[in-house]
Amino acid sequence: MSHMKIHKGDQVKVVTGKESGKTGKVLRVDTESHRVVIERLNMVKKHTKPNPKKNPQGGVIEREAAIDVSNVMLVCPACGQPTRVGFRLLEGGGKTRTCRRANCGKDIDKA
Ligand SMILES: [Zn+2]
Repeated sequence: MSHMKIHKGDQVKVVTGKESGKTGKVLRVDTESHRVVIERLNMVKKHTKPNPKKNPQGGVIEREAAIDVSNVMLVCPACGQPTRVGFRLLEGGGKTRTCRRANCGKDIDKA
């Protein structure tokens, strides 16, 4: 089982590519391809065929395209800074992600 450092619902900052510097909320995580979909970031236009029920005209819709997880950093909810992610084993089992910033180091996941 692959373990992703980014989870659904996280705030992340994009660090490379055309959306570099922007932050947003993770809508979906694909653990197979290691890609994440971030709310209102990396929008692409998709051409749609006319659909009598939903969209009789057809045309162009915009939707989020996935970004490789290596192109984003987690924004730590404790310090509000983008950080690399560490892991820490919890007493009684399980583990939490941790902020790797020296002046923070807080647990990211609430047990
Ligand atoms: Zn932090």
